[in-house]
Amino acid sequence: MERRNAWLTYTEAQEKEMEEVVKAYRNFLDLGKTERECVTQIIKEAEAAGYEALETRLAKGGALKAGDKVYTVDMKKIVALFHIGQEDIANGMNILGAHIDSPRLDIKQNPLYEDADLAFLDTHYYGGVKKYQWVSIPLAMHGVVVRKDGSVVDVNIGEAEDDPVLYITDLLIHLAGKQLQKKAADVIDGESMDILIGSRPLKDLPDEKKKEAVKENVLKILNEKYGIEEEDFLSAELEIVPAGKARECGLDRSMIVGYGQDDRVCAYTSLLAILEMDAPKRTSCCLLVDKEEIGSVGATGMQSRFFENSVAELLEGMGKYTELTLRRALRNSSMLSSDVSAGFDPAYADAFEKKNSAFLGRGIVLNKFTGARGKSGSNDANAEYVAKVRAIFDKYEVAFQTAELGKVDIGGGGTIAYIAALYGMEVIDSGVAVLSMHAPWEVTSKADVYEAKKAYKAFLLDA
Ligand SMILES: [Zn+2]
Repeated sequence: MERRNAWLTYTEAQEKEMEEVVKAYRNFLDLGKTERECVTQIIKEAEAAGYEALETRLAKGGALKAGDKVYTVDMKKIVALFHIGQEDIANGMNILGAHIDSPRLDIKQNPLYEDADLAFLDTHYYGGVKKYQWVSIPLAMHGVVVRKDGSVVDVNIGEAEDDPVLYITDLLIHLAGKQLQKKAADVIDGESMDILIGSRPLKDLPDEKKKEAVKENVLKILNEKYGIEEEDFLSAELEIVPAGKARECGLDRSMIVGYGQDDRVCAYTSLLAILEMDAPKRTSCCLLVDKEEIGSVGATGMQSRFFENSVAELLEGMGKYTELTLRRALRNSSMLSSDVSAGFDPAYADAFEKKNSAFLGRGIVLNKFTGARGKSGSNDANAEYVAKVRAIFDKYEVAFQTAELGKVDIGGGGTIAYIAALYGMEVIDSGVAVLSMHAPWEVTSKADVYEAKKAYKAFLLDA
């Protein structure tokens, strides 16, 4: 049962539309390299499309009604958008879910040190990374430093054309005989993934500070540029990500190479789909969460009550809140839980079972289940629901394929699907196929980005 390559089906008009979607997507990747930056960008685009903060809307008074468009955010890292439909919300919503955090290196709370006239920042990696991929490439620092008085300083170093970049060193090949005998997981030690941040000592320091003149200079620059002191690292969230913009990939410009496409490719196309909705029948919802890469934990992860609380507030605003209505609205909902799929890679064909693999260019991927070793940790979507979703995709001529994450017993992974399913709603994993998932630079097909957006729109319209 082979699925057709979507590129073969496009008209000129569709190709043009695809390029527009991809252009907007690349812009989103460039501006949203952290979960906070993504939320900022999402709010901007939502407001431009007529959404307002739920809290602002409630303060205006008057019940929320069909056609109203609101969003709600928590801790600047998790966001839910609702476009209220004609139908009673107790009958459920059509929900698009995805995550906006990506693997990266986080700066530690006490990070700065000097050794051999070089200054470094200590890191702790976040999410699943092959550590050897992160050394000897240009890196950028994005994030916030919060001063004791509560003022927040936005940090962004390494993206502008004339910005300096940061870097993690690797051992020269000439001396790497012993290193190269190590297992790939141990080639780079997590504790030694330190960011090279300076080498120029500050002149004319008092004697007691002369020993750390390079570090002192870095602190001086940070103070001049951002008004922060060394102690302010204690209350900072600084993320090290690959420096540079997403680019077209391939001579035929058919692919995108970019950082953080897992899972911003699903998050952004979900956002585009909901922003395009016009007077939906069922309430449309788009839920974009943080902390998926480390188990969906914390107040901004899918395991938190954020979503449930947000729906409760929405119901209250509609003048419909009761505990039972909330339960029913959640229970009767349908969800596409979107996360990227492992694209089949001929160079690593051994890791895949070809009949049940996702291929670049063949459209959005449906994963009936994910998980590892006997589907453990998976949300196994109901066959009836899979049938309904594929019927919708066929109706709207969405190119789709089905897949599982690699061969049985070779590995696996989880998503947020099983957590949403706890409410008893119908959930299926879906998403875009990616090559080199979790690498600093990941690859997707333009056609799949376009088909994902089409799929999400179709789902919001008809699920
Ligand atoms: Zn993911």
